[in-house]
Amino acid sequence: MTRRTGYLLFAFVALSLCLVLGRIARAETSPVREENVSLVSSVTDAGLNGRGVKGIDISRETAAAGGTGGLEPVENKGVLPGVSAMLTELRSWSNPDYTRVAVTLDREVKYAYHRLRQAHDQKLPARIYIDFKGARIAPGVKDIPIGDGLLKMARVGQFRPDVVRVVLDIENIRECKIFPLSNPFRVIIDVKGERKAEISRMDDSISTAGPEPRLERSPEDKRGLQPKLKVPKVRRIVIDPGHGGADPGAVGPNGLREKDVVLAIGLKLARRIREETGIEAVMTRSTDVFIPLEERTAIANKVNADLFVSIHANASLNKAASGIETYYLNLAKTDKAARVAARENNISMAKVSLLQTILFDLMANHKINDSARMADEVQKSLHARVVKKYQGVKNLGVKQGPFYVLVGATMPSILVETAFISNDHEAELLTDQDYQNTAAAGILDGIRSYINTLR
Ligand SMILES: [Zn+2]
Repeated sequence: MTRRTGYLLFAFVALSLCLVLGRIARAETSPVREENVSLVSSVTDAGLNGRGVKGIDISRETAAAGGTGGLEPVENKGVLPGVSAMLTELRSWSNPDYTRVAVTLDREVKYAYHRLRQAHDQKLPARIYIDFKGARIAPGVKDIPIGDGLLKMARVGQFRPDVVRVVLDIENIRECKIFPLSNPFRVIIDVKGERKAEISRMDDSISTAGPEPRLERSPEDKRGLQPKLKVPKVRRIVIDPGHGGADPGAVGPNGLREKDVVLAIGLKLARRIREETGIEAVMTRSTDVFIPLEERTAIANKVNADLFVSIHANASLNKAASGIETYYLNLAKTDKAARVAARENNISMAKVSLLQTILFDLMANHKINDSARMADEVQKSLHARVVKKYQGVKNLGVKQGPFYVLVGATMPSILVETAFISNDHEAELLTDQDYQNTAAAGILDGIRSYINTLR
């Protein structure tokens, strides 16, 4: 080989290498552009439009990936290598100013989400899609129509043999928050936006899953229609005993479970409200069932509740910790408050930080002042009632924290920690019918005082 041929060969190889590397780099780092979007969306929508057989996409992908190229290995193997999770549920709740979608899996998986604008050349709507890696769709999980003015539809499909894709078709949204919750693992998508007027008037008929309490027009509506008519400011209170079913909440000495004692207090509180006031009390649960956090405020919104009271028992690694405290939704000011929120949300401290960052806008200014005032009245009255009978019970005051159960409530909402189940003495109090009654009476005193401030 002459020296000249050698140089030429070297230059050719170097040039080819640069071209190839350049292409790879562009492909990996380029943001989602229109061409990528339409490529992705066309594949996505082919798999998710509900018209085709999902397997068609699976076989195409398997073939493209150099696999067996047929459907059979996918269907017959049961569980694919690397596929271990099942997407078991897809649900949505429509509320006056936000829509919530929850995707539940039977174990934690990695997921990635993207938001696509409406493509210029296609009729496809703007949408959000979330890919769940290492997952399959459980039998019976179907697309759900939403059509509430914010989202049109939630669709689910087996995008690749080991990837489930959930697509939300957007009607009109302003912001979107996506984050995980645990036990069971689920990914929550909260979207906010403005509904069109004719749709917001139809709020009452917007469908939701879960319990179907009676619906009446809210006091808000009635006040709006007949401003001179005297209507009670609070007509309906939702009582939310924490945890339930597979989620025992905090566990105290002798296996005492938070879910049982808070249900007992919640039922007593509801009965008092019904018997002693003209106010309707609606329970998020009145038996030992699991209701996910994301559904509890949705129930309150659905029944047009005027107040939301979540009832819990506190816990700490420090067995000496004791007392009563009441929370409202906001960023945690102390590590202690963040730890309580982590426990009540059933997530790690790291995820609480994530939740605070992600949910900052959703938490900000939403009935914060009203919730803080109600927390104040309830904390004061509850402690006063309790300490009169049970000397020494501490008043830990009103605090703030990112409690997911309160996120999205459209009414003043609080979370009451009625005593420490991790403390031997207070665990005993929590099982005592008399203490439960006193606590319920104290909470009702506080609710009354709060209502009086409204007049
Ligand atoms: Zn709790």
